[in-house]
Amino acid sequence: MLSSPDSSPALQVLQQVFGYTAFRGPQAAIVEHVVTGGDALVLMPTGGGKSLCYQVPAIVRHRQGLGVAVVVSPLIALMHDQVGALEEAGVHAAYLNSTLSSEQAQQVERELRSGRLVLLYVAPERLLTPRMLAMLDSLHERQLLSLFAIDEAHCVSQWGHDFREEYLGLSALHERYPGVPRVALTATADDHTRRDIVERLQLEEAAAFVSSFDRPNIRYTIVEKDNPRAQLLRLIRDEHEGEAGVVYCQSRRKVEETAAWLEQQGVRALPYHAGLDADTRRRHQDRFLREDDLVMVATIAFGMGIDKPDVRFVAHLDLPKNIEAYYQETGRAGRDGEAADAWMAYGLADVVNQRRMIDESDAEEEFKRLQRAKLDALLALAEAHDCRRVRLLAYFGEASRPCDNCDNCLNPPRTWDATEAARKALSCIYRFGQHGGGFGPTRFGAGHLLDVLRGKRTDKVAQYGHEKLSTFGIGADLSEAQWRGVLRQLVALGHVQAEGEFNTLALTPSARAVLKGEVPIILREPREPTARVRGSRTA
Ligand code: ADP
Ligand code: ZN
Repeated sequence: MLSSPDSSPALQVLQQVFGYTAFRGPQAAIVEHVVTGGDALVLMPTGGGKSLCYQVPAIVRHRQGLGVAVVVSPLIALMHDQVGALEEAGVHAAYLNSTLSSEQAQQVERELRSGRLVLLYVAPERLLTPRMLAMLDSLHERQLLSLFAIDEAHCVSQWGHDFREEYLGLSALHERYPGVPRVALTATADDHTRRDIVERLQLEEAAAFVSSFDRPNIRYTIVEKDNPRAQLLRLIRDEHEGEAGVVYCQSRRKVEETAAWLEQQGVRALPYHAGLDADTRRRHQDRFLREDDLVMVATIAFGMGIDKPDVRFVAHLDLPKNIEAYYQETGRAGRDGEAADAWMAYGLADVVNQRRMIDESDAEEEFKRLQRAKLDALLALAEAHDCRRVRLLAYFGEASRPCDNCDNCLNPPRTWDATEAARKALSCIYRFGQHGGGFGPTRFGAGHLLDVLRGKRTDKVAQYGHEKLSTFGIGADLSEAQWRGVLRQLVALGHVQAEGEFNTLALTPSARAVLKGEVPIILREPREPTARVRGSRTA
């Protein structure tokens, strides 16, 4: 006879140990599959509830006398938090990582060898040491290895943003311990990464559980930078007065300055970045979690493992590295399911900076190529005229319909044909070329280009005799904002590079086709600064 779902041991564990009433989404199916010894690949967005997908099976299997579950994780902070929470709930769990003294580590090893542990968290490099493998061998012989959970499984893929060499070694688990079920989990779901995970961890036979990545209660808005601080303040005052939010900035200095400025404007704000001492960081984080009207201004150092349900907005004052990062950071908004905003301001300088960071890193050329492709995908999202959510989900391999809850759906942008304007800008840069014109480096940046195109007689224009150029004043019909849009797009598309300390402009070979008018360029009309939609706040 089939046992009724009410009496399933997994559900009992969920209720008795974790105090939840029901599984969420695909959790029930995943847990059932793993409890009965199947391998699983779990793709679930951040906050979706991945941990229970291995914790519950670990407890159920332990109660069946099957010993200890080994959880591989690269995140020391997460191990620490989870082990703390499990022990509090009466589940015997421990971790092994570099933060333990050798006495502490020995104590954990004793518990492990005895088979009394329910869950052991361990970093991948530690797992694959001969010492550790010997202990696992012994458990395996005694049938006391209940399962392997491989968290952050995207780390096995170079396509992902945080590839870790040690993850490649994890395929050994399958060969060495056949029959021990494995569950690999990640919040990164693009096709490429997924195929890498399956192949490199030998999960061809595993059942794949793919959750929707949609967060329907999050409203996506991407605006052009035009005094970003003032834009941010307007967002907070108009829509999020007295609410909790996170503002991401790229540099520590900008974090400090923005937090101080918000405070001056009467917004309660705290800075958070890796340059603050551990004590200050902990204090700020605790206050953010406890109080419900604080704005945390932070670098990406803030967020991993932060589980605050009522974050009402996440704002980006700088462009993240790629769509995965954008999705993960914005995903910290609205975990309680109530309406929340993901808001970003971006401009030409962001595009230039991100391109430069890739160019100047000492990564392999192949890796840089991937990073550029990923940045391009994010730029396409930022420049999009159509539904942001459709694009975001499509990036993660999910088809969807226009959402009615992003800026482009709520307030469709007007577009204009910028093909001619782009040609004018490119030919102007061409004429800046050093030896009577050409491709390659010039000595002039965006500001000067805009002055020449719009026919402004500045000192610099006079100094270089640029009022005599045939391109002088040919763009007087367009606004400065429109020209900035044109140039930003040209940089985003890689037709123009901004180089060196002064961001001097240079044409790249791909500009040729645009100059010839072979590539149509359609841009969004710059919005009036006050045109932000104020729709209803229901999800
Ligand atoms: P992820 O690892 O996917 O980001 P977590 O495992 O940290 O997500 O879970 C996110 C939050 O959701 C946690 O606070 C967790 O306790 C909660 N949660 C997960 N599953 C359930 C459930 N079935 N019922 C209630 N809360 C849940
Ligand atoms: Zn939309």
